[in-house]
Amino acid sequence: MTEQAHPEWDASYTAGTPAPWDIGRPQPAFVRLADEGRLTGRLLDAGCGTGENALLAASRGADVTGIDVAPTAIARARAKASERGLTARFEVADALDLGRLSLTVDTVIDSGVFHVFGDDDRARYVASLAAVLRPAGACYLMCFSDRQPGTWGPRRVRAEELRAAFSDGWAVQSITAGTVEINPVDGTTQVQAWLAAIRRN
Ligand code: SAH
Repeated sequence: MTEQAHPEWDASYTAGTPAPWDIGRPQPAFVRLADEGRLTGRLLDAGCGTGENALLAASRGADVTGIDVAPTAIARARAKASERGLTARFEVADALDLGRLSLTVDTVIDSGVFHVFGDDDRARYVASLAAVLRPAGACYLMCFSDRQPGTWGPRRVRAEELRAAFSDGWAVQSITAGTVEINPVDGTTQVQAWLAAIRRN
């Protein structure tokens, strides 16, 4: 696996305080998916950060791979897995080039990654996901929503943008309003989000 140079992302994990999204527990939206039995089979967490959602899936029996461009995040995810006695693979890799991984999965999860990409990379990302997700496999994606006021944080995504991004070769099954939990930013601990359930054709 080739290590990409993304020092800006790694820096968000080497600062003294955890990044806003690095909350030290899985996102409640993904806990609900796990409770519904949806985080199953061979599962990829694309842009897994320090691995909480990936480790949640591993704890429920999924065969988990987590990838991220930030080596510090991957090192932390590996340490958490070993501390918790959980088995999961964590690798430094580029979510825009997943085809290089020689991996096929039944399920992909994305917690806060789709919204980091600009328009060009967005198309690349969706093609990259299609390269590792088997036909009829499920993608669960949570991103900042246009319902979130203000300008702090990543770009807001409209539901129609999600539908457009996944219009070719995918079936968007649901887009549900929910929240992303964050470490407090100006006293705010929840951000408006979309949770999309998308099936690969
Ligand atoms: N899913 C994690 C992290 C979300 S923050 C969580 O819910 O906590 C966005 C993550 O995407 C960061 O960890 C960042 O390092 C990662 N990232 C950004 N660009 C990436 C890329 N091209 N490939 C893989 N990971 C990327």
